[in-house]
Amino acid sequence: MARTTPPRPVDVEALFPELAPYRRDTVRLHPRRGHPGVRDSSLGGPLLWPREDAWPHCHDDHPDSGFGSPQSGAQPLVPVLQLFAADVPELPFPAGKDVLQVLWCPFDHENDYAPRPELYWRDSSACGGELAAPPRPTGADDNYLPAPCVLHPERVVDYPSWDLPHDVHQALRERFKRLEEETGWSYHYHLSTADGIKVGGYPTWTQDPVWPGCTSCGRRMDHLLTVNSAEFDGGTWRTWLPVEDTPASGTIWDLPYEKRQQIQCAPGLMLGDMGGVYLFICRQCPDLPYDHRFDCS
Ligand SMILES: [Zn+2]
Ligand SMILES: [Zn+2]
Repeated sequence: MARTTPPRPVDVEALFPELAPYRRDTVRLHPRRGHPGVRDSSLGGPLLWPREDAWPHCHDDHPDSGFGSPQSGAQPLVPVLQLFAADVPELPFPAGKDVLQVLWCPFDHENDYAPRPELYWRDSSACGGELAAPPRPTGADDNYLPAPCVLHPERVVDYPSWDLPHDVHQALRERFKRLEEETGWSYHYHLSTADGIKVGGYPTWTQDPVWPGCTSCGRRMDHLLTVNSAEFDGGTWRTWLPVEDTPASGTIWDLPYEKRQQIQCAPGLMLGDMGGVYLFICRQCPDLPYDHRFDCS
């Protein structure tokens, strides 16, 4: 079943033409629990991993943050996303590559107290198949271990929320306020940046944006993808809950907890307090350097 974001309840660019230059396309991935195969795009699913490649491990020291209990020694990374070009052609695949794999180390790290991601771009025709039994870490917090999900990529339009340039925000502030008073729609929560796990568009920051720069060329990196804790929250569900998941009567909050979780947080991730891990790359440098940021409420 596809997942469809309802059209915005107001015409954002008709109301605020100043936003048009900041429009960006994004692909909401809409993960839902399932049984993805090794040649499927997935979240937390099996990876098409070349048999001859060693499984990646994290050699960092893991602080004891009270969540999970890292064993000493190197810890194996776990699959987070596998995205095929056929499903998400918007990704900047290097020549000859058609799969992006994102793994992360599911422990807190000294610099940001969050999982540490790694990216692998691959040629699926050169991958023999599935590694029989990839190693699993012991002692990781369940909140950092994504449950296997199939994906339902959907293209929508993003406008910047916290990334809106200061002068544009100043110019529009009064009109945002008036719209909210008249209609109940908040530009920031309901109309700007699509919520949920997504490729491209704007990161779903919960704090002030902190964009990384490329350490090779010095340019500001581009947002590659966001892995966050939920498809929507207590405010954003009003515009970011897919049509197919909308109950016939009542609201999503009337569903039993378990049933709502399967829609709102299918992968079972909770990154801090409703936070997200945001991945960035530099497209200017040929080896596509990447970095990440984490924030939460
Ligand atoms: Zn680690
Ligand atoms: Zn660069």
